[in-house]
Amino acid sequence: MPHDHPDHDNHLDPMDARVRALETILTRKGLVDPAAVDEIIETYAHKVGPQNGARVVARAWTDPDFAAWLREDATAAIASMGYTGRQGEHMEAVFNTPEQHNVVVCTLCSCYPWTVLGLPPVWYKSPAYRSRVVIEPRAVLAEFGLHLPESTGVRVWDSTAELRYLVVPMRPEGTEGLSPEALADLVTRESMIGTGQPQVPA
Ligand code: FE
Repeated sequence: MPHDHPDHDNHLDPMDARVRALETILTRKGLVDPAAVDEIIETYAHKVGPQNGARVVARAWTDPDFAAWLREDATAAIASMGYTGRQGEHMEAVFNTPEQHNVVVCTLCSCYPWTVLGLPPVWYKSPAYRSRVVIEPRAVLAEFGLHLPESTGVRVWDSTAELRYLVVPMRPEGTEGLSPEALADLVTRESMIGTGQPQVPA
């Protein structure tokens, strides 16, 4: 399956240099507006982030019809909340249950659902996470401080350019009276990748 860019493992610095050189050439030729490039980076670094995904999860916790739609057609359900764009064209929501915990990785590069989670954390792109989480998911999750019961199976989902996953964690106990806004505050980025759990109310 195609990915967004070729695998370049540990050679991030030469790649950065190549990206910069390419941007310079395209700018000089008038093919790219550097302000537009900055705008895209600014958008995904500061305006789009895990708060979007957290609102999706909180709504799924409080609105059974929305949860059903999210399960059936995550792309459309998420788009209905205004979260559309690059690296979010084809979404799938995977729901945690007592029987199955879901974890997301991109083993080949760093495919990630930008529209709901923003830009990926550094560890998500690291060769160690990408290779180990598929081989020994429980050990990797334990390193994140996530210890699951033996009775809970772990399923690892490998993202591609065609399909991005959003983990819908289980709603924490003791949150019955909370508003969707208050619930969204409990939903961490890690809980939507599957390397963590939502916070519990204070
Ligand atoms: Fe990828």
